[in-house]
Order: sequence, then structure tokens, then C-alpha cells
Amino acid sequence: MFDFTDRDVKEPHNIRVIGVPFDGTVSFRPGARFGPAAIRDASDGIETYSPLLDHDLESVSYADVGDLELPMGSVEVSLSIIKESVEDALKDNVIPFLLGGEHLVSLPAIEAVYEKYPDLVVVQLDAHADQREDYLGVKLSHACVMRRVSEFLGQEHIRQIGIRSGTRDEYKLMSDYSTLTTFREHDLAALRAWIGNRPLYLTVDLDVFDPASFPGTGTPEPGGIDWWTFQRFIGVMKGCDIVGLDAVELAPQLDNSGCSSVLAAKCVREMLLLVSL
Ligand code: MN
Ligand code: MN
Repeated sequence: MFDFTDRDVKEPHNIRVIGVPFDGTVSFRPGARFGPAAIRDASDGIETYSPLLDHDLESVSYADVGDLELPMGSVEVSLSIIKESVEDALKDNVIPFLLGGEHLVSLPAIEAVYEKYPDLVVVQLDAHADQREDYLGVKLSHACVMRRVSEFLGQEHIRQIGIRSGTRDEYKLMSDYSTLTTFREHDLAALRAWIGNRPLYLTVDLDVFDPASFPGTGTPEPGGIDWWTFQRFIGVMKGCDIVGLDAVELAPQLDNSGCSSVLAAKCVREMLLLVSL
């Protein structure tokens, strides 16, 4: 069992959990704004110990600032509030860990982290490329988040994994820049070597999981990964210099069984433990 809410932000900590209940630009089914609360709630029912990492949350120094207050109707203002909270974490020399919310919340977070770490690389787990120039004329959409990130970071500093949906243009772009990789063993090893010692921002769009195990998301895509594949990924990422991370796109009401929230909470646990190894 772990409970984020008993962790006081005033105490010294190394990782800061920031709830970002925003789903203002989702393209299909809304509800990701309820993600952070559902992750905290589900976290109550799972173990603090990870057999894979042989590490326990009891010995991890993290704090939870709760949910940001965001004006859902104003995307720009919401993004600037998110960015400010991440900048605050970086100023305090703690690692920001965002709980989404939809995937657009990663944009201001990665921006802030990049300003501190100019040699940053980003690894995105996702079912979707999120490389559109715009979505129905809108550039600030969760369907465009990696494209916006690439505009300051450069496509050559991005790797995408688990992607199985996108437009022809997105697939051409990902092919031109070789951003796409897979969960096959040799590809994961190559990904780890590519990251090397560079600072890493890890963004996990939870719809990378198969809808069979994770139906609670706005834009489900068949053909996703299972828990064991995620564990293999986490195992390979050991030793990375992770300077920022997020888990996004849980829309808990879309799964009446509650299993999606449990899966999300377990991912968050593994990511917290990975960062603090
Ligand atoms: Mn996404
Ligand atoms: Mn997605």
C-alpha cells in the first residue's frame, strides 16, 4: 500500500509528484482530468515493493503537491501553470513527476526540463505518434505534443516506442528521423545505449498498453503491450539519468472494473522506484 497524500511537500524530498487534472484538448473521449485522483486512490491497494527492481517505496524520498488548479477552458494559461510548477521543482533540485491528465501536459514539463538540461533526450511510450502538425487546425493538442516538443528539442533527440497509430505524414516523419523503435530485446538495448549518460525525460502515455489490460483511456488502440513488456522496458532503463517523467492519459471512468487505475498506479510505482535506484 502506498498513499501519496501522506507525503508532505515541506519535508525534504528527491522526487515531486504533481497532479495535472487537465483534458482540455482530447480528440475522442474525455476523462483524463480524473486520472491523478484515481491513481492516488488505486495506489492504496498495491504493494510498495517491486520484485523486479528489488526496491521499496518506503525507502524513496518523494512528496506529492496534490493537483494543480487549472482553468480547463484556457489551454495557454493551463500550460503556463504546469510549466511554473515544474520550474519550481527544478529550482528546488527535485525531479518532477507529473500525473496526467492528457498528453499535452508533457509539453510545458519537457520545455521547463529542457531549459535546465539542454542536452536532454526524450523517450515516449505511446500507442500514438502525437507528431501531427495540427489537429483540426489546433497546434496545442494532445495529438501534436511530440511535434511541438521536437520544435525546440529536435527530432533527433526523441525516441518513440509502442507506436501503432498515426497519419501517413507522421509515419514518414518518424521514418525520416528514425525516432521509432520497438520493445524487442535488441532494440531496447540499442535504445539504452543511445540514451547513454544524457539526461532523460520519460513520458509514458498509458495507452501504450493493450486495451485488454488498459481500457480506461480516451483513445484506445488494439495491439498494445502487456505488464511484462513494460517491466522489461523498466529493467533496461536502470541506471538512466532521469530528470523528469510523467504518466498520462488514464481516464478512469471508462473502465468500470477499476483495473486500469491499478495498472496506472503500478506503473507509477515502478517509475518512482526506477528514478530512485
Ligand atoms: Mn500520447
Ligand atoms: Mn496515446
